[in-house]
Amino acid sequence: QTQAHIVILGGGAAGMAMANRLATRLEGGTITLVEPRSTHHYQPGWTLVASGVWQPDKTMRPNAQFVPRGVKWVREYAASIDADNKRVGLANGATLDYDYLVVATGIQLNYHLIEGMSPSLVGQHGIGSVYASIEGATRTNQAIQTWLDSGQGKGIFTAAPTPVKCAGAPLKMTFTTLSRLEASGRRDAFEVDFMAPGDALFSQPWVNEFVKQRFDEQGVNRRHHYRLSAIDPQAKQAEFTFVGPDSEFTSHHQLREAEFRRDNQPTVIADYDFIHVVPPMSAHDFVKQSALIAQDGPFRGEWLDVDIYTMQHNRYPEVFGIGDVIGAPINKTAASVKAQAPVVEANLIAVMQGNPPPARHTGYTSCPMITGIGKAMLVEFGYEDNFAFMPSFPFIDPTDESWVTWVMKDRMLQPAYYAVLEGQA
Ligand code: FAD
Repeated sequence: QTQAHIVILGGGAAGMAMANRLATRLEGGTITLVEPRSTHHYQPGWTLVASGVWQPDKTMRPNAQFVPRGVKWVREYAASIDADNKRVGLANGATLDYDYLVVATGIQLNYHLIEGMSPSLVGQHGIGSVYASIEGATRTNQAIQTWLDSGQGKGIFTAAPTPVKCAGAPLKMTFTTLSRLEASGRRDAFEVDFMAPGDALFSQPWVNEFVKQRFDEQGVNRRHHYRLSAIDPQAKQAEFTFVGPDSEFTSHHQLREAEFRRDNQPTVIADYDFIHVVPPMSAHDFVKQSALIAQDGPFRGEWLDVDIYTMQHNRYPEVFGIGDVIGAPINKTAASVKAQAPVVEANLIAVMQGNPPPARHTGYTSCPMITGIGKAMLVEFGYEDNFAFMPSFPFIDPTDESWVTWVMKDRMLQPAYYAVLEGQA
């Protein structure tokens, strides 16, 4: 079929799925996978770890179990992409030339954009952050437990002014903590605030309204148009900067890095006993510094510039993007990766054969929205009709909270995820 060399950057959910699919599909040609880590992390399990439901070791497996035979695994960080010369630079100074490139490096957590905050603080001074790492998720659980054991006080839950991976996770952390507070029998002794940068808490309109209503019913004080801008861990104080209603980000929460530096908006200082920090997120710096980053539109300077349907780069046809790194109005879930992987496979192979890309991604994404410990809703939706529901199980109503969906999240989604990694699903 071809003698081409395909380089896949990142061997997380998306990159590993592509390595396995292409290894099976490609006749001739070579595949190099650039992935620095030896451990694969099942990130969807981190909310369960941070909620005290799972042990952390349940979320880790060696990458060596997933890398297919015949694929060259380079255990290094990519450090640059020279898209005009089809060349990737690695952190150790080596370079890799490619004919086709799949960018799957996921997300960069920009904790540094919150003054005084660092992921190493998670677990100390009442600070939690499910996103930080598996250690961070574990320490978040401990920080919540310490707050609970203190018997009173104020918890602040935050959301980021940028797209984030698993947009439901900040909400799930609030709901599972509410369950724990209620189970303590002293719910009234605790105050719970949710600070949101935009009007919306979630992009799917029905779910957005549902969560707002449920927060109101459960006594969560919602404040909109505030982003976490600074934290003083010793004083247990957080600074929130007002983000005017006229700001360009509402439901899609767009805020570029440069805008974080602006200091001309009113701020409020809030005391807390526990705070759940959700950092601003973007593509990694080396992707941002490459010609592959979006040049205009809502994803400018922050996310990979792909056609959200074909997953092909908008300006470099030999480049495809998959997973969290792409600029798209929704997605950034492992469920999206499952839907995107066959599309990228079909379209990349077609392009290699000189044909136009035949397959289209519907935007499918899914979030098992945990609404409390022991119950969840299976929310599946896509790009069309203002993010309309796309249910895949006729017996599960996306607007129903059920124990069945919780069991699915708890027991069934992890094996399904590994099947995606192995290129089977
Ligand atoms: P990742 O899986 O993050 O992989 C990126 C890979 O790139 C990593 O292996 C990393 O080591 C590698 N990399 C980074 N930098 C470089 C570099 N410079 N060079 C080479 N490689 C590099 N999804 C769901 O579907 N359902 C859920 O319930 C859910 N819950 C979540 C809860 C939390 C707390 C989190 C954090 C995520 C959750 N997700 C969920 C999202 C899901 O984990 C991601 O969408 C998915 O992992 C995206 O795959 P990816 O390959 O794009 O990124």
